[in-house]
Amino acid sequence: MRPGSCAKSPGPIARSYGGSGHRPRTSPPFPVSSGLPVGGFGLYARGMAKQLSYHVIHKIFSRFRAARPEPKGELHHTNAYTLLVAVALSAQATDAGVNKVTRALFKAADTPQKMLDLGEEALIEHIKTIGLFRNKARNVMKLSRLLVGDYGGEVPSSRAALQSLPGVGRKTANVVLNMWWRHPAQAVDTHIFRLGNRSGIAPGKDVDAVERAIEDHIPAEFQLHAHHWMILHGRYVCVARKPKCGGCIIRDLCQFEEKTKDDGQL
Ligand code: SF4
Repeated sequence: MRPGSCAKSPGPIARSYGGSGHRPRTSPPFPVSSGLPVGGFGLYARGMAKQLSYHVIHKIFSRFRAARPEPKGELHHTNAYTLLVAVALSAQATDAGVNKVTRALFKAADTPQKMLDLGEEALIEHIKTIGLFRNKARNVMKLSRLLVGDYGGEVPSSRAALQSLPGVGRKTANVVLNMWWRHPAQAVDTHIFRLGNRSGIAPGKDVDAVERAIEDHIPAEFQLHAHHWMILHGRYVCVARKPKCGGCIIRDLCQFEEKTKDDGQL
C-alpha cells in the first residue's frame, strides 16, 4: 500500500490562487436544456467554447505544471480508507467544512473496523455540521462493513469495485483512484466543468462528456495531475461569478469571450 499522506494545506501556489474561499458544491447531474448545461454547476448557458488544439492545451498544462509541479488535493486524509470517507463526505460540502470534522473523526477511526466499532451514532455526532450527514453516516457504515467483509479491510483499486460501495459514485471513485492509486482518472466537479467549458480545454455538455474530453485531449504527460491543476485553477482563479482573468496565467490561450480585467487583488 502506498504510504499515507496528509493534505494539510493548499500549499503556496494554491494560496496564491486567491485565498481560502471555497464555493459550496452543487450536485450532478446537471440540468440540461437544449443540449447546454444551465444552473447546477453555475455554468453560463450561452454555449461552450470550441475544443482547443493539442498545441494550445500542451502550452496551458506546461504553465500549470511550471506554477505547481506537484499539485495536491485539499481533503485531509491519512490513508486510503480515510481518503475514501473524506471524499464521500465532501459531496455537496466544502473541503474546508469536511476537514474541520475529519481531523477528530480520523483520530477516533481511521480504518473500516474502527469505524464499525465507533458506531453510527458517534459518527453522526462527528459529522453533523456537514450536509446530508445522516445519509452519509449510513453509507460510511455500510461501506465500512463491506470493506471488512469483502476486501479484508482494504480499499480496492478498481473503479468497478469502488463504485460497488454504498455512496460511492464515479466521481468519488475517480478521486480515490487518482489521489491514492495514482491512476490518471479524471473526477469532474463543478470547477473542472466550468473551466473546461469556458476555456475550451475540455468542453462538454455534461460531466461524462467533459471527462472524456480531458482523457482524449490532454497529453499523457499531464493526465495524472490534470484533475488537480484544473480544480485549483477553477476554484481560485476561474471562479464562477467573476473569473479573475486579469491575473490568469492562461488568459491569452483561453477562449472565453467574456474575460474580465479582474486580477483577484483586493
Ligand atoms: S482567462 Fe478567465 S475565463 Fe479563461 S481560464 Fe482564465 S480565469 Fe477562466
